[in-house]
Order: sequence, then C-alpha cells, then structure tokens
Amino acid sequence: MPGFIEVKDIVKIFGKHVVLDDINIEIPYGKIFGIIGENGSGKTTLLNTLIGFYKPTRGTIYFQGLDIFKDMHGVETRFGFATQAGSFYPKLTAEENLWYFGRLYQIPRQELKERIRKLLDLVELTYAKKSLGEELSTGMKRRLDIACALIHKPVVLILDEPTEDLDPLLRKELLTLIKRINENGVTVIITSHLLEEVEELCDLVAILHRGRLLKMGSPTAIEREYGKNEVVKLELESKNYQVFIKKLIQHGGKVEDVDYEGQKILIYTPKGDRLLSLIMSTAKALKEKVNHVSVDKMSLNIIFESIVRGERKND
Ligand code: ADP
Repeated sequence: MPGFIEVKDIVKIFGKHVVLDDINIEIPYGKIFGIIGENGSGKTTLLNTLIGFYKPTRGTIYFQGLDIFKDMHGVETRFGFATQAGSFYPKLTAEENLWYFGRLYQIPRQELKERIRKLLDLVELTYAKKSLGEELSTGMKRRLDIACALIHKPVVLILDEPTEDLDPLLRKELLTLIKRINENGVTVIITSHLLEEVEELCDLVAILHRGRLLKMGSPTAIEREYGKNEVVKLELESKNYQVFIKKLIQHGGKVEDVDYEGQKILIYTPKGDRLLSLIMSTAKALKEKVNHVSVDKMSLNIIFESIVRGERKND
C-alpha cells in the first residue's frame, strides 16, 4: 500500500547552494502537515518541489504511489497551491477571479457557478463577491487566494505562510478556515514560522534547518520526547554564569543542559520549581543580583529554538 505523499531522498541544489539536503517525509492522507523552520531553511523550496514547480536535483516525490514528475497532470488536478505572493487578479472581482480560475480548469459553467457559490460561502466572502480583488482587506485577500486554490476541488491544499502579515484575530479566523477545509477531506500542507500556530493546527510537523530535516512527528510526540525537562530562564546582573551554575550543581541542582539567549542563560532541568528555589538560595549565598528568573514547560517553540541552537553549534 503506497503512502499518500512520499518525499524520497530529495536534494535541491541551486548553483553551489544545497537548499534541500536529502529530505525524506511521508505525509498521510487527511492530515494537516506543518513544515516549520527559520527564514531560508528551505520551506518554500520544498513546497515548490512538492507541486512539481522545481525539479529536484536528486530524489523524487510520489503521490499515491506515482512519481509526480512523470505524471504532472495528477499534481495539477489534485493539488491546490496558495503562494505567499497571491495569485488572483486585483482588477477582477472576487467572483470573477473564481470564475477565471475555474474556466482555466475547464469546469463546466453550470457546475462552476454552484462551486463558486459554495466556495464564497466557505471562505465567508459572499458579501464581498462584487468587490475588486484590490479592494479587499488583507484577511479577505488571503481567503480569496485559498478559494482560488480550491476551485478545482483538490485533495491536497498547499499553503505557504498563509497567516503572515495577519493580526492575531485574523490569524485565528484563517486557522479556523483551514481546519474547516481539512474536515472536508482535504489534506493540508502548510509552512509557518509561528510555532504556536503550528502546535494548535497541525497533526504532524517537520522541522527544517538549513535544508535538512531535523525532526518529524506530532507536536505532542515531539513535546513528550523533550518534555521531560523544563526550562528556567535566568538573568544575573553580573552575567557570571559559569561560577553560578557550578555552585548551583554543588547545592544539588539538576542541570541537564544550558543555552544562552541574549543576556540570559537557559537551564534545562527535570524540576523547574525545585531549581528555582535553589537559584534564589545560591544567589543569596553568592551575593548575586537576579534580574530575571522564570520557569517554562517545554513547548514546541522552546524545543524548536533548542534544536536549532544545538544545530548552529554543530555548523
Ligand atoms: P524559506 O521558505 O524557509 O524561507 P526558501 O526555500 O525560500 O526558504 O530558501 C532557502 C534557501 O534557498 C535560501 O538561502 C534562498 O536564498 C535559496 N533559494 C531559494 N530559491 C532560490 C532560487 N530560485 N535560486 C537560488 N537560490 C534560491
């Protein structure tokens, strides 16, 4: 039984720059799959390869067992793609745009009329169907883009940073829309650099860093793997962390690992609250002034930062 979408040994090189370095990913049917990574980590390149826009230097992608590069028609008809740049025409109305894209896919007029009605309803743009693309607000434009990407009833919807530039309320509305689309049986692949958003939305997540796949799994599985620790953020007035940590350990503090974030030190520990009280007593003993101290559970955000920081040390 072939997987739904299988990314196999993908390498993409631009000139001398290895942008995707041996990526292997399986995307199951019906899920929301998130690709996260810093700017420049290769997310957009991976999406462009998934839709067959970029041919990989090596490796291939299978959609329901078929090599997409040997069957581009399959991708064109089954995948919908909403890019960061947006694809609709500003001088056409919302409705005209959908009509235009529908006719490109040669959808018969009567059927298209009905589809446009339903799509405008889904993305809550019925009231604005006669507005020109350019007159729509940022959130409405994003929704129109998604509607255009859905006009041919794709089974896979690919969204490149769809919530970028949106304020928190509009972002929430868009996430609700994406969930609704997914509930209608559409597999969603989405890139984002907003970890909280991915955590809330996605069933599975792939973490990319400098073109390499660092981690893949459900947000909860990733959190469980790293979740045995909590992270204590500490800022000492003196910034004399080496001596402080040594003393802390001598006092019985459990320190699994440390990292730095600006002026602060991040201490990974199995018991944040216990370490917190030891930090206060150690600070007192050493006459250190504590500018900041806080305890956080491991969220995807903290895990992502810690993985990427670890990788940077290895680069
Ligand atoms: P992300 O979407 O994660 O920000 P991209 O996939 O856009 O990352 O880019 C990854 C890297 O590949 C960047 O260093 C970028 O400069 C490079 N890159 C992307 N597209 C091209 C291209 N067409 N030609 C050359 N380099 C590219």
